[in-house]
Amino acid sequence: MGAIRTTCAYCGVGCGIRAEVSGGNGIEAAGSGDGDRGVAITGDPDHPANRGRLCSKGTHLGETVGLEGRLLYPEINGKRVSWDKAIDRVARKFADTIERHGPNSVAFYVSGQLLTEDYYVANKLMKGFIGSANIDTNSRLCMSSAVAGHTRAFGEDVVPATYEDLDQADLIVLVGSNTAWCHPIVYQRIMAARAERGAKLVVIDPRKTETCEEADLHLPLRPGSDVALMKGLLAHCREAGVTDEAFLAQHVATPEGFWEALGEGADLWSTAATCDVPPADLRAFYDLFAKTPRTVTLFSQGINQSIRGTDQVNAIINVHLATGRIGKPGAAPFSITGQPNAMGGREVGGLASTLAAHMDFAAENVATVKRFWAAPHMATQPGLKAVDLFRQVREGRVKALWIMATNPAVSLPDAGLVREALDTCPFVVVSDCIADTDTNRFADVKLPAAGWGEKDGTVTNSERLISRQRALFPLAGEARPDWWIITRVAQAMGWAGHFAYDRPADIYREHARLSAYQNDGKRVFDLKSQAAISNADYEAMEPFRWGGAPFADGRFSTPDGKARLVPVTQMVLENPLAKWPLTLNTGRYRDQWHTMTRTGLSPRLSQHRREPMVEIHPEDAAELGIAADDLVRVATPQGESLFRALLSEGQRRGEVFTPIHWTDRQSTGGRTGLLPRPLVDPISGQPGFKSTPVRIEKVIPEWRGFAIARTLPDVIPAAYATRIRVPQGWLVEVAGEGDPASVAKAVLPRGEKIEIVDSARGGLRAAVLAEGQLIAALFITRDGRLPSREWLIAQLASADTASSIELLAGRPATPQVDRGPIVCVCFDVGMKTIVEAIATQGLISVDAVGAALSAGTNCGSCRPAIQRLIVEHKEEAVHA
Ligand code: SF4
Repeated sequence: MGAIRTTCAYCGVGCGIRAEVSGGNGIEAAGSGDGDRGVAITGDPDHPANRGRLCSKGTHLGETVGLEGRLLYPEINGKRVSWDKAIDRVARKFADTIERHGPNSVAFYVSGQLLTEDYYVANKLMKGFIGSANIDTNSRLCMSSAVAGHTRAFGEDVVPATYEDLDQADLIVLVGSNTAWCHPIVYQRIMAARAERGAKLVVIDPRKTETCEEADLHLPLRPGSDVALMKGLLAHCREAGVTDEAFLAQHVATPEGFWEALGEGADLWSTAATCDVPPADLRAFYDLFAKTPRTVTLFSQGINQSIRGTDQVNAIINVHLATGRIGKPGAAPFSITGQPNAMGGREVGGLASTLAAHMDFAAENVATVKRFWAAPHMATQPGLKAVDLFRQVREGRVKALWIMATNPAVSLPDAGLVREALDTCPFVVVSDCIADTDTNRFADVKLPAAGWGEKDGTVTNSERLISRQRALFPLAGEARPDWWIITRVAQAMGWAGHFAYDRPADIYREHARLSAYQNDGKRVFDLKSQAAISNADYEAMEPFRWGGAPFADGRFSTPDGKARLVPVTQMVLENPLAKWPLTLNTGRYRDQWHTMTRTGLSPRLSQHRREPMVEIHPEDAAELGIAADDLVRVATPQGESLFRALLSEGQRRGEVFTPIHWTDRQSTGGRTGLLPRPLVDPISGQPGFKSTPVRIEKVIPEWRGFAIARTLPDVIPAAYATRIRVPQGWLVEVAGEGDPASVAKAVLPRGEKIEIVDSARGGLRAAVLAEGQLIAALFITRDGRLPSREWLIAQLASADTASSIELLAGRPATPQVDRGPIVCVCFDVGMKTIVEAIATQGLISVDAVGAALSAGTNCGSCRPAIQRLIVEHKEEAVHA
């Protein structure tokens, strides 16, 4: 079969993929879909979002499509049941709960991983048939402040920019976005714009991330001071005479007193003091912005995930409206989304705060949607947003909860409370493709959902581009698409006629018709042209963008057609607390996605960061007696967890950073979700993940070590145990107190065991072989000395087993070159190899390193890291 064109599973960049399924395991194959699944993934050169490029996550998608860890059959209370029985149980329980306690006693918590068709039927069932708006989504955690900000300013949640604007901009401002790691293909497009057009790049972020490596200017502002910075910018633009008075007069409604209120504290010196940035740098940014009409301000989680996220969004939009930099090529505010289909969820109305098809809960909208759906029980007001939803589950007011394709026990703030809520909730249903997640351990009913490679439907990316996601493989086991599961439950609840869909195209057509129904140009979101699409045309659909060039005519989606300047308030910035003196920021790693249920399956992606690290400024670390690689406890009033220390000059003093990915399944530590406060933005309900008061302290375990093994048990009895995939097995880092014998018992299987026990120093080295091949090894030390992991990992996958002496030494008799941590996962190039090449060959550009070592020449995700190494070692290169 030929290549199947589909869309990447991960971020909101929405890259197109060509997938060549090997062997007989493609969608045309008969059978259950079990067995080996081979697929070669390349970027789709014809997809406008990526033009053939893929980042490291997309490139290695093929390593994550196997059936390992999949949920393959419906289960009730842990026992396999038929689909009929599972559907019947869910329908009855929901119906009974609604009958006894009313429609608001039930809720759905869904996900930006769902396809638009899945999202549409879930929203329709809850808001039109159950009669509640208690359907919220994990997109609440990543971009709901942008939704609220767009709606306040434009009258509709419309992203006014496209990636082409990045190609055409003369200045690109990145605010609260580690684009190089979180949206790598967008970052590469920005780099191309710099190379081709000389576009300037300014990064506004408390942390000096790899995104800053190529920036003309980095403003490491104090967390939460973005409103002050943008108000200062707006005041500067007005003073410099670059506000567009004609545009403001014709197309923007300005509240009375707006400009007068702006003036207070918006002078350069006060703003620099509030933001804690050098006044000269701030001035340089303001001047550059003022003189560059073609400016795109791209923002992401650093703006949205704040307890004043909506004001932060509007502060950015205010500047663009006031300078007329919107609706023109290369000029726009640009919210970039985290998840692959957060935008599709926004389109169908899959947030508790929106109704459907970009309509809110105004009475005429409720009547319109009720008519369209012929709905018996319409929700008439917004439902519970994510944090409030789980609080009400905990308080017993929500009694039946259906979670689809997400892992709130890890991802929501104050995750300990979420677990209590799930534990006490009388009825929890989880639809997921993964058998064992931190969340579905609480499920009464588990429903096996189709995985990425089996799903069929549409997704919308950050720039309003709708693309098809196409199935590559047959459904695994008894897994079913989410739309199928939801509609079967709706049918069993008595609404068969309203949920009679045979295929995703049926749902898509209805979704398109609703967007156009009595729209009459009121809303930009209008898929009229898709309303009668044939099944064949749906199959063959090419990526297309809805909305054209929004606001190019100066008309917005408000009753008077004008946009709104929105008064915004700088939040009161907290001073460090005596008991919690540091501020925690959280975010993503380059090569992992969310809770690692898929990316964690890839040995290559696991190489980039092998453990959950807390990044801390070296001077803060020194004051706390913390050295690189120490184990560190990070604690807040909500919870605590262990991390490995990473000293980083990129951190501001007094601030630390941890990744969001690690769960109970992979680690006893690294549980960032336990730490943030459940405080939310009052308008969007988005949690403020970016600034939590914390305390950290060094932990001195009696011993530490690591094991490699073909298989591992679920539980490893150590205070700290964190695992990742390696070729042919696992690597687990451990540390703890007392006798490590229990760890040895857990990780070393039966077999031919060789071992050295150093009783005097409490060390242990052991290896287990089966039929002459290494299957596990464990190294424990009390003095800190451990062998390099790399050689031992290679032995796990090697047919030529090393000698017993070599295995117990943890190194070959003939010393090998230490490559250092892997930087380029595509070509397996280590840091030390790159540094040596820079020094010995005088390499002073990323392209030169690529030519010498291939590093950075495939997906390009490591290019910023290579650039950083060049900057750090350029002195050595100059003398080469
Ligand atoms: S940037 Fe990477 S993760 Fe995001 S859609 Fe593209 S390939 Fe996938």
